[in-house]
Amino acid sequence: MADRNKRLDSNIPGNFYVDATCINCDTCRQLAPASFEEIGRYSAVSHQPVSGPEIHQAYQALLTCPVGAIGTEQSDKALAQTAMGSFPSPIEDGVSYCGFNSEKSFGANSFLIEHPDGNWLIDSPRYLKHLVEVFERRGGIAHIFLTHQDDVADSDKYAAHFGAKRIIHRADVQAASTAEQIIEGEETTQIGSDFQIIPVPGHTAGSMVLLYRETFLFTGDHLWWNPHTKSL
Ligand code: SF4
Repeated sequence: MADRNKRLDSNIPGNFYVDATCINCDTCRQLAPASFEEIGRYSAVSHQPVSGPEIHQAYQALLTCPVGAIGTEQSDKALAQTAMGSFPSPIEDGVSYCGFNSEKSFGANSFLIEHPDGNWLIDSPRYLKHLVEVFERRGGIAHIFLTHQDDVADSDKYAAHFGAKRIIHRADVQAASTAEQIIEGEETTQIGSDFQIIPVPGHTAGSMVLLYRETFLFTGDHLWWNPHTKSL
C-alpha cells in the first residue's frame, strides 16, 4: 500500500501519486501511459487522469503495481472494484493479460490463454483470490509455460491449486525444480496443433518463447520494446 509520506516530488499535484518504493518496472507506464512517466529513477504521475478511461487505467495500474507504490489521496472503492473486475483483461482470441504483476518477477507481465484442450498460464501473476476464482470459472489451468527462470513468481501455487503442468527449460530448471515438464535442447516442441515451444537461449540459458496459433508470440524477456526508439 502506497504511503503519502513517501510521495515523490516528481508527481504532479493531485489524487494519484507514486511513492519512493517504486522499483521502476514499467508496468504502470504500459497500463496507463497517459498518466505515468519515467522521471529519473522512478515512475511518477505526470498527468492526473481526468476522463473515465484514464481514471480506469490509473486504477488498473494501482492494482497491478507489484510493490503497491501507487496511491490515491482519496480512493474511490467502486472504481477500484471495477478495475479489479477488468482482470484478466481480454486481448484477442481467448488471450488475456492477467494483471497483478509480481514483485518476485520484477513486475513481469503474465497472460492467460483459454483453450478447449485446457487453459494455459504464461508466466505467473501474484497468487490472488480474485484471479484464482476467475481461472476456476473459466475452466482452470492445465499448463503453466515459464519463459525463463526470472518469471516463475507464484507458479508453484497456481500449479498446486489447479494440478497444472509447469513447463520450463532444463537450463533454467533450478527456478522451478519440481516442474512437471522439462524441455531439453534447442529443438521446437509442438503441443497439439496450436502451441510451439521454441528455446531461445540468450537472456538466460533456458529462455523459451511460446508461439500460439502462429499469431501470438509470448517472449518473456527475449524481446523488449524500447519506448524511446519505438523499436524492439
Ligand atoms: S508499476 Fe509500480 S513499481 Fe512499477 S514503475 Fe509503476 S509505480 Fe513503479
